[in-house]
Amino acid sequence: MRELANVNGTICALEDAVIPAEDRGCLFGDGVYEVVRAYQGRLWGLHRHWRRFQRSLREIDLQPANLEEMRSWIEETYRASRIPNATVYFHLTRGASPRNHSWSEVLEPSFFMSVRPFTDRGIVAGVKVQSVPDLRWRRCDIKSLNLLPNVLAKQQARKLGAYEALLVDTRGNVTEGSSSAALAILERTIIAPPQTSSILPSITREFVEEIAVGLKLSFQERWLSLAEFRSAGEAFLAGTSDEVTGITHVDGQAVGTGGVGPWTREIQKAYRQRIERGKD
Ligand code: PLP
Repeated sequence: MRELANVNGTICALEDAVIPAEDRGCLFGDGVYEVVRAYQGRLWGLHRHWRRFQRSLREIDLQPANLEEMRSWIEETYRASRIPNATVYFHLTRGASPRNHSWSEVLEPSFFMSVRPFTDRGIVAGVKVQSVPDLRWRRCDIKSLNLLPNVLAKQQARKLGAYEALLVDTRGNVTEGSSSAALAILERTIIAPPQTSSILPSITREFVEEIAVGLKLSFQERWLSLAEFRSAGEAFLAGTSDEVTGITHVDGQAVGTGGVGPWTREIQKAYRQRIERGKD
């Protein structure tokens, strides 16, 4: 088992990975990324993440000639790590060049990837979330390296003793977490925000929508105000790292009974079963 990196096709120990200082990812956040989990030696949902990655690349007008080769680097580097339960991160930036906002078409895009063991966050008993204004740009559907508002929001939430920030837009509606989707359950309906450019198209949310069918839960897209979200019967976060995690409190106020709701537990269980069966 070894923590590995891959820089432009070359595998190395993670601590030895080097990226040029003038990489546009570093200077401008000019790139897009994905985070994938591996369970029991298998990359989970890679084809879905790959589809979203390709979309993000198109949206920022970054079209490397060797994209399919990068996919093989991901699989090969993960295999070489021999880490059964891992977090696999990869990004592609527009490349390195002297700092200038506009770019030259001849730049070589830069690929970076890391494989680390997944570290359990101990959040099965549910988490508290803290509402924070959503200060992000208007293309949150792109999984861009520009994460400063997300980082600041998460830190603000953590300082206030919450696990995750619950982002609230200027209309007072809940958009998502700083690194997770946020969903509520009212009666037997999962309520998710409309899939617009205000939120990331979450892969875990996609799984939840599919799981809902088997559990005979409806799935509805509509905006919920912070007050509506707080007073839902149940609420949960969905994300690659957090999987399905019950929200017990919003701004210190209990959601439902203040524990992980029964439907949330069912969804968690079904998601886990799906992972065990490798049905991605
Ligand atoms: N929303 C944001 C802002 C995120 O950063 C993430 C994950 O990183 C998610 C939602 C959840 O997306 P996924 O389920 O694809 O991990």
